[in-house]
Amino acid sequence: DHLSNKIAAGEVVERPASVVKELVENSIDAHSSRIEIELEEGGLSLIRIIDNGNGIEPDDCQLAFSRHATSKIKEEQDLFQIRTMGFRGEALPSIASVSQMEMKTGTGSGPGTALTIMNGQIQSVSSTNSRKGTDITVRHLFYNTPARLKHMKTINTELGNITDVINRLALGHPEISFRLRHNGRDLLNTNGSGNVLNVIAAVYGMSVARNMVPVTARSLDYEIEGYISKPEITRASRNYVSLFMNGRYIKNYAVQRAVQQAFHTLLPIGRYPLVVLSITMDPSIIDVNVHPSKLEARLSKEPELNSLVEEEVRNVLRKLRL
Ligand code: ADP
Ligand code: MG
Repeated sequence: DHLSNKIAAGEVVERPASVVKELVENSIDAHSSRIEIELEEGGLSLIRIIDNGNGIEPDDCQLAFSRHATSKIKEEQDLFQIRTMGFRGEALPSIASVSQMEMKTGTGSGPGTALTIMNGQIQSVSSTNSRKGTDITVRHLFYNTPARLKHMKTINTELGNITDVINRLALGHPEISFRLRHNGRDLLNTNGSGNVLNVIAAVYGMSVARNMVPVTARSLDYEIEGYISKPEITRASRNYVSLFMNGRYIKNYAVQRAVQQAFHTLLPIGRYPLVVLSITMDPSIIDVNVHPSKLEARLSKEPELNSLVEEEVRNVLRKLRL
């Protein structure tokens, strides 16, 4: 119902960046190979996400806006085997309850569907052309929750948060082409080549990309692939150590520390390396259902991962100096 959607919105959609994250994750789950994000005024007046993914069948469109309707998990068992970015079935109804929304979606076979939603209520449903993919527009976010709106920072701050979100999603999904535009200006373009070094170049610049060295490692339960910067490329914040677990950006202090440990004597105090590591594992050993934002994860074999990361990064650095 409308009230519980609005309450859930308080947790899931804190600011424009959380809306963008939820919508783009849906596009990723729909197997899109290209995702375009258009923003106006830091996302506060407009967020539009256009993907070329699987789309939604006409009969499922209204269901997608009802709470806890997810097509991604069918039984409780699946909660411990998560292979998709979303699974809570909260994002669409929550966002719809605090904005004015339009959606056009099609599966590529048969007609598509166009919906408008106001205040969480579906206003109109009609048939549209059959382009494969989904095109969602969110206007006037928080127009009906003035207290929340008042908490928004400057357009530049909101935009910075969105850029961080998209950069991370792009780094975690080099196989997808992302385009981010703000007020008609291009902020990020990735080519979807599958090579994360291309994304590193798009996000951090060519000169950084040229100074990255590859890391690959595997143990019984984990596979690691990515890049670390040469020790001379440093940053003043550990936010430049990006970790992806099964394609999802995860804040994990222990793994971050393992990276830092390996760089230990090579960096001045207060400086950090620039690192992008993609860690894959069987979904049963990672639990991301810790917090609605899914930013944290519990791992059942954490020490194994920490030593794998520390050893391999150390190895790569040692070879660099030979
Ligand atoms: P969840 O992602 O947790 O399943 P959401 O509220 O984010 O829940 O989305 C509800 C449902 O709407 C999804 O399970 C999916 O079936 C459908 N959906 C949402 N966005 C898209 C999209 N871009 N492409 C295809 N299907 C989508
Ligand atoms: Mg979702």
